[in-house]
Amino acid sequence: MALSEELISWTHEQKCRKAVTSLEKNGFTACFCPSPQNAAEYIIAAAADSATIGFGGSMTIASLGVEQILREQGKEIFNHGPATFSRDEKMAIMRRQLTCDLFLSGCNALTLNGELINIDATGNRVAAMCFGPLKVIIVAGRNKLVDGTPQDAIARVKAWATPPNSKRLNFKTPCAATGFCSDCNSPDRLCRVTTIIDRKPRFTDLHVLVVNADLGF
Ligand code: SF4
Repeated sequence: MALSEELISWTHEQKCRKAVTSLEKNGFTACFCPSPQNAAEYIIAAAADSATIGFGGSMTIASLGVEQILREQGKEIFNHGPATFSRDEKMAIMRRQLTCDLFLSGCNALTLNGELINIDATGNRVAAMCFGPLKVIIVAGRNKLVDGTPQDAIARVKAWATPPNSKRLNFKTPCAATGFCSDCNSPDRLCRVTTIIDRKPRFTDLHVLVVNADLGF
């Protein structure tokens, strides 16, 4: 690794570690992962006693490549992502995610104060993060860190996460066309449920992995 890359990585690591310390103060189980591989290994180990595993439609989790490994271990997988599913099939899978043993999700933004900020269109993902699954693991790449308030984090999501997500999903929103949020009232609007998880939900075993790599958007 060139010296400049090393220094950039070191700087990111300090921010990641600050977020981990803040998350722990806020009651979460938090872990710094130097690489995506470390995060994948953490998930595989944490899934050892889980028979059913839900996936929250996250590019970050997909990039870790854990789904196939868990499937081969005989876990029952609830992933509504494949386009081959009908709407009813997707709804049924999303309902099963709410009571699975382990739910895996990315995060739209994570403040250095240890607050998790997410914006959903349906709400299934944020619902499962808060209550229902026995264990939840949220993975946040360093690109999701925000040195600011939850409002700053919401602005980050609408500037950097929702426009590419709208485009990826082929939604007819202004941000999918321009790359900028115009606080639309589109029928396809993704921004419908905004959550700030600022302390560990009382009855959810919630782990947050902060990874020193850019993951998702
Ligand atoms: S409010 Fe509309 S334009 Fe703004 S980010 Fe959400 S979907 Fe895009």
